[in-house]
Amino acid sequence: MSDQGYRRAAELAAQASVGSRKRAGALSPEEIEKTIHELTVHQIELEMQGEDLRRSQQELTIARERYFDLYNLAPVGYCTLSESGLILRANLTLAKLLGVNRSNLVQHFLTQYIARGDQDRFYLLSRHLFTASTSGVCEVRMVKKDASRFWARLEGGPSTGEDGEPVLRLVISDIGERIAAETALAEERQKREADLVDLFENAPMAYHEIDHEGVIRRVNAAECALLGYAAADMLGRPVWEFLGGPDRAASREAVREKLTSTTPLRPVEWRYVRSDGTELLLEIQDRRVQNEAGEVVGLRTALLDVTARALITKELRVVGERAASALSDLKSQKFALDHHSIVDITDVAGNITYANDKFCSISGFSRPELLSQNHRLLNSRTHPKEFFVDLWSTISAGKVWHGEVCNRAKDGSLYWLESTIVPLLGAKGKPDAYIAIRTDITARKRDAVRIENYVAELAEAMAALELEKDRAQAATRAKSEFLALMSHEIRTPMNGVIGMTGLLLGTQLTPEQQGYAETVRTSGEALLTIINDILDFSKVEAGKVELEVGPIDLHSALEDVLELMAINARDKQLELLLCYDAEAPREFLGDAGRIRQVLLNLVSNALKFTAVGHVLIEAECKSIVGGVAHLSITVHDTGIGIPADRQEALFQKFEQVDSSTTRKFGGTGLGLAISKQLVELMGGTIRLTSVEGVGSKFSVELSLPLCPATGPVPVQAVPLQDVRVLVVDDYPVCRRVTSGLCARWGMRVDEADSGEVALRMVAVARAAGDPYRVVCLDQKMPHMSGSEVARRLGEESRTPPIVMITATDGRDETVSAGSSVAKFRLIKPLREAVLFQTMQRLLGGDGGATPPLGKQPEVPLAALPKFASCRVLVVEDNVVNQKVAVALLRKMGCLVDVAANGREGCDLAALLPYEMILMDCQMPEMDGCEATREIRAREGDARHTPIVALTAGAMIDDRERCLEAGMDGYISKPVREDQLREAVEQWLKPPTDEAGA
Ligand code: ADP
Repeated sequence: MSDQGYRRAAELAAQASVGSRKRAGALSPEEIEKTIHELTVHQIELEMQGEDLRRSQQELTIARERYFDLYNLAPVGYCTLSESGLILRANLTLAKLLGVNRSNLVQHFLTQYIARGDQDRFYLLSRHLFTASTSGVCEVRMVKKDASRFWARLEGGPSTGEDGEPVLRLVISDIGERIAAETALAEERQKREADLVDLFENAPMAYHEIDHEGVIRRVNAAECALLGYAAADMLGRPVWEFLGGPDRAASREAVREKLTSTTPLRPVEWRYVRSDGTELLLEIQDRRVQNEAGEVVGLRTALLDVTARALITKELRVVGERAASALSDLKSQKFALDHHSIVDITDVAGNITYANDKFCSISGFSRPELLSQNHRLLNSRTHPKEFFVDLWSTISAGKVWHGEVCNRAKDGSLYWLESTIVPLLGAKGKPDAYIAIRTDITARKRDAVRIENYVAELAEAMAALELEKDRAQAATRAKSEFLALMSHEIRTPMNGVIGMTGLLLGTQLTPEQQGYAETVRTSGEALLTIINDILDFSKVEAGKVELEVGPIDLHSALEDVLELMAINARDKQLELLLCYDAEAPREFLGDAGRIRQVLLNLVSNALKFTAVGHVLIEAECKSIVGGVAHLSITVHDTGIGIPADRQEALFQKFEQVDSSTTRKFGGTGLGLAISKQLVELMGGTIRLTSVEGVGSKFSVELSLPLCPATGPVPVQAVPLQDVRVLVVDDYPVCRRVTSGLCARWGMRVDEADSGEVALRMVAVARAAGDPYRVVCLDQKMPHMSGSEVARRLGEESRTPPIVMITATDGRDETVSAGSSVAKFRLIKPLREAVLFQTMQRLLGGDGGATPPLGKQPEVPLAALPKFASCRVLVVEDNVVNQKVAVALLRKMGCLVDVAANGREGCDLAALLPYEMILMDCQMPEMDGCEATREIRAREGDARHTPIVALTAGAMIDDRERCLEAGMDGYISKPVREDQLREAVEQWLKPPTDEAGA
């Protein structure tokens, strides 16, 4: 019952006693009833309150029990400590934790259960808790009864005990597991960190770490190796110091930016400089390093060497550009190809997979109509089966096929294509597809047909023309034959005219008549020359000239040419020289007569058109292949030259530089034409180079088979090797030729271009103890003539022997008597053999001796014209032989006439009283033997003209046949001067004075 209830019940009881007293005096039953009722209610209330009280007590008991359960069975230990540290109360859990009974705890010190090393910590906590009146925590190791230990967390706060004394309430929990977990975690973390350090240090990639100032704080081995520094050299230095050139300043800025901003970090490339100065391009990837507070304290950087990659990238770029350009070229080419050609591609089965516009256009099909169709669609059925068999077997074998194909267009019309089909080979080398590139040749095909027809017509026309040409050639031949005949016919009377005039000139004539007769003779001779040229030319043109091939000594043949032309040169005071390549062979197989004729013509022209200077024949051997020598014989002159525009024409008949030539120089304009024809007949060529006013060069190139030497080889009886010789001539070419000859024999040659120089050189050589053993002196020199030099040399005591080279054959009047010098006089043109013999004689036993004063030594001098006005007839059809014989005979002083064959010879012999006849054997018309027999028959016993045969071969029967025919002797061809001289001396009597009268 509540206080209020009790109070109400007491009030009611008091009221009831008052009421009873009153009833005894004043209470009514109602009032009593009411009071009883109220008392009942109050009793009930009191009962009810007693019930509540009981129940509360019950609940309290339950709560107390629950509290104790909770207290004792809590998962953590509880205890209450006195200020002195005694345990006042402890729950069961704590007892369990420490492995003891609760009785072992209460009234025991808690420190008893705390590990010795951790007790201070506990004291500190408890003191703090008592004084500061706040809660606190500490962690200590506690010791169980069995001495085992565990980590415990002690958390508590101050409180007041039941008696009001200050106490400490502690919660003690076992934190062993947590601590173990934490320790494991820490160890794990430590291990991880060690691993990370190891990774950093030993990573194959370069790493470094910089602090907030950009200073390197860590650097790994890979980076040290990359940059070539020791770690110690890098640590503590700003990172940008390791960058090169412009990158250094830029990187400094970039590092600052990265450290201060939050922008995402992307890879960048910087140029680093290695310790050896070389540059590296490194790709840098930074990561910001933060402290626990999340502030950026540095950068961790990975560095990748991309130098090679950069190079490769660069190369790749170049290759890429090239590839792009090639691709673009290819595109252009395809464009061009598509514009130019008809192009299609088929698969291996012949199905069209590509067709360009031109293909569509020529075939008349649209592209969709063509694609996937077989190429047979266009077959025109004009080619045989074999044609396609060949095509397919070629391309399927991976080869290219070319050919002309006829195709049929959509509208049925046929068109021709020139096709090239190229297989496109796949990986296994087998065709994957075929590309065909074609050109429309329909028009060309049409033209070809037209051309074929035309060719056929042309062939007909040609045949007709050929006939015409044959006819024309026959006509030309006939004309030439006619000309030859005509000339021949003219020659006989002409010879008569000339011969008779000659006779006339031998009679008593008035000076006037003498003049007329001489003009008749010279004009006749000129006419005869022309006729001879025409005759010769006509013969060549009529194809009547046959080469007479035999052994030929080219060197002496050329010397003969010089000799024959010597008089002409001498008359014009020109130097006439031969320079024959010392290394070149001399003996060949060839037609000596024709070669001489060509050279005679060229030299005679050269002399004719040269007023001052020289004419030089130069012979060289360009090569020898298979026993055949390729020779070049050039005639140089220093004459008037030939204008360039006239040079080609001169080799045609009757061509001269200008018409005034004939007037001024004579000639027919046939010489070069004949020469060209002859050279070509011999398989050679003739060329001309000339500069007007400077001179001309006519070169004959011939290929002649080599022939073993037949003539005697000059023997060096007296060795000329190393003999010192001085060649003195003012004219350089002459000097060169003479020096060349001497050098050929191994002599030591010096040259002097004047007498004065020569005298000095002789003196110097003598003083040096190496005197000249021979001096070759040109007679005709300006300032000091050869004779003067000889005279001066003669004044000295020991003078070298002298070879005087003169142009004239007269005795050298200036070689003064009284000179003690040995002198040989040689007449120009100089023959090699003569100079050689002269040297031999000069230096040999006999020639070397000083000859008697004023006495001419024996020299090969041309004879004086001893047979003046002796009349000789040369019967010879070969022009050169004629010329040679005539020239030689004239040189001896004879009057010479020429007959071109036996018939002419007989006629002339009948006409004129010849003192001697030189008779060739083989001649057209009438040969030598027949002519001799006729002459002898005519002469009968009245007369006997000596007839000397000119025999070509050394055949004994030839000679016998000649003698049988009535000839008196023979000399063999080619005619040589010494042989001819002998014959003349034998058969001709030099005329007495009376005879000449
Ligand atoms: P010809 O001398 O009988 O007139 P050629 O056929 O030998 O006939 O010569 C033809 C022409 O070529 C000569 O008339 C002359 O004009 C010119 N010619 C030939 N050789 C020479 C030369 N060496 N120098 C200058 N002109 C020359």
